[in-house]
Amino acid sequence: MKRLLALTATAFILLPLSPALAHDGTPGAPGAGDPYFPGQGNGGYDAGHYDLSLDYDPSSGRLTGVTKITARATQALSRFNLDLVSTLSVRSVTVDGRPAVFAQSGNELVVTPARSLGSGRDFSVVVRYDGRPVHVVDPDGSLDGWIKTSDGVYNVNEPQGAMTWYPGNHHMTDKATHRFTVTVPSSRVAVANGDLVAKWSKGGHTTSVWDSREPMASYLATVTIGKFEFADARIGGYRVTTAVDPKLAGDAKGFPERHPPVLDYFSSIFGPYPFSSTGGIIDHAPEVGYALETQTRPVYPRVPSESLLAHELAHQWFGDSVTPTLWRDIWLNEGFATYSEWLWLDKLGTRTVQVAFDAAYATPAEDEFWQSPPADPGGPENLFHDPVYDRGAMTLHVLRLEVGDPAFFAILRAWASDYKYGNADTAAFVALSERVSGKQLDALFEAWLFKPGKPTV
Ligand SMILES: [Zn+2]
Repeated sequence: MKRLLALTATAFILLPLSPALAHDGTPGAPGAGDPYFPGQGNGGYDAGHYDLSLDYDPSSGRLTGVTKITARATQALSRFNLDLVSTLSVRSVTVDGRPAVFAQSGNELVVTPARSLGSGRDFSVVVRYDGRPVHVVDPDGSLDGWIKTSDGVYNVNEPQGAMTWYPGNHHMTDKATHRFTVTVPSSRVAVANGDLVAKWSKGGHTTSVWDSREPMASYLATVTIGKFEFADARIGGYRVTTAVDPKLAGDAKGFPERHPPVLDYFSSIFGPYPFSSTGGIIDHAPEVGYALETQTRPVYPRVPSESLLAHELAHQWFGDSVTPTLWRDIWLNEGFATYSEWLWLDKLGTRTVQVAFDAAYATPAEDEFWQSPPADPGGPENLFHDPVYDRGAMTLHVLRLEVGDPAFFAILRAWASDYKYGNADTAAFVALSERVSGKQLDALFEAWLFKPGKPTV
């Protein structure tokens, strides 16, 4: 319904515009309007595809990049912004092949094309840049972005790291397909999202080309580089691409084969796996300490346990394919992935979902845990707090008990299919749950998602 409205509005605006008007235009907004990260993303255009060429030297830490963005103007644009840290130096920008004026300020690259862009117009931007990328530190203190390791880069970008290595519209509401052409010394392996489509070596360097054909929010992109044991094979009906740091290879035996059983189970309850390939990257990065559900191919700082593997693979449906609209709605990622861990461990016979719920619910009412409601974490410093995960998962279990298994799993399947490759917020989930179950559920969601304090069961 939302998407239909947007299409109608575009068609309506396009038709009455005179050619003269189309060449006026105003600056695109410098942010997408997310209160947690006001500078993130930009207004005035919609990116459709990123074609990245990256050349990285792990010993000097030097990156040379060319990013070509194909986009459509959503307003008449006199200029527009891309998100890119100014520690990287932009050498040139063209719009539709013509040199554009550009300026770097903070995390914004401001581009003024030679001629303004009419609303609805498709255009392409090519940015040439280089420098030594450095990670950012997030409001919660965690490292994010292009994180150097002893042998390369551990590249995870939630919530704001993408701007540390490529220019773009880096808010999760602007999803786009990606292609990565990455050149590294032949002693290293570069692994990105999607399918490996080409690889060649020349003069001591190896180039690999990765095609991410399904739309992706840029916080889910990765180009992870290091010394890796690499494998790419069809297993159990999936294309499983894995890279494992040799230091961890012993414990990682059988890592590729662990994916199909989890994906088969989740497909049976959530609907078909949404991507063309799967796998994972296990890198030795003790300084990072967290895994991320990078699209098609999560990055892990250690060999994942069954619950961590299930968590990151469940995110492929919940987070990667269906992505929140605002960072505040992060429980739609983490609550769902945590509940999926509970489901997988129940399936394995390790622990029932009810036992997992009871253990979390046993947290005393006076504990701080209950003071932060999952759908209103209060700020970016709380994005990855426990309540977002555990109370988010508990919310789903309470919903399941209220509506019964058939309606509950129908809700999860509808969520995954109705918003496939798109974005949705908490209000949409509440509305969908009520529609599918035929029940009035506002009191339940209000108590579990929005109100501080321990809800009664
Ligand atoms: Zn997660």
